[in-house]
Amino acid sequence: MIKLPTLFVSHGSPMLAILDSPARRFLLELGKTLPRPTAIVAVSAHWEAMGAPAASFAAEPATIHDFGGFPAALGEIEYPAQGAPEVAARATRLLEQAGLPVQRSAERGLDHGAWVPLSLMYPDAAIPTMQISLVRGATPADHYRIGQALAPLRDQGALIIGSGSLTHNLHEFWGKPIDASVPGWVSEFDAWMMSRLHGNQRDALFDYRRQAPFAVRNHPTEEHLLPLFVALGAAGADANAQRIHASYEYGALAMDAYAFS
Ligand code: ZN
Repeated sequence: MIKLPTLFVSHGSPMLAILDSPARRFLLELGKTLPRPTAIVAVSAHWEAMGAPAASFAAEPATIHDFGGFPAALGEIEYPAQGAPEVAARATRLLEQAGLPVQRSAERGLDHGAWVPLSLMYPDAAIPTMQISLVRGATPADHYRIGQALAPLRDQGALIIGSGSLTHNLHEFWGKPIDASVPGWVSEFDAWMMSRLHGNQRDALFDYRRQAPFAVRNHPTEEHLLPLFVALGAAGADANAQRIHASYEYGALAMDAYAFS
């Protein structure tokens, strides 16, 4: 079985699903460049559980349109992938073996952090897909450990993909054109992240909020960066990071994607 890299992708605005951009064109190609996964384990910024990670056992996960103020066409998109309850069961066992309690969700569907990039990467929606949540208030290192526990899923051909946004300050994003100029506080942060990721400087990354320039301004709350740490943890301690895409949207959103292998 070919082992896939783990991925972090930036999903930006939900308009990514329908509006042409360099990041959208990148995601349209990305699925074709990877070996076909047997299942997808998605960790999205838009599912945070309290206290412990949650896993979705939904056999037919609904497409969740968890956004407002966008064109009606976006609310009509369905991503009808089957769920992956067996993968959810294995993920739950792995997390519990690592000493991490898990909350089982029978119903949870796919939020837009998951289905928007997946609808571009795998438009046939033919790969069983399940989600594991973030833990609200848990640290980057905590999320790294969740990823470490999930790593054996890759031995069976699963693709572990974190979906967030390399920078994500919504207050500075609203009202700007998609090709707005990029302020220094955004580009300095994403350059710092790239150099620490390429250098495999995990301790610095775990401490990004203190060490990285403008970290709090780029992430007033952390949930859009935390999926990166799950993907990093699932790749293994000696994994190499490769930035496989970089672009900006609306000035404030760095759309970077990373592969860890
Ligand atoms: Zn988002």
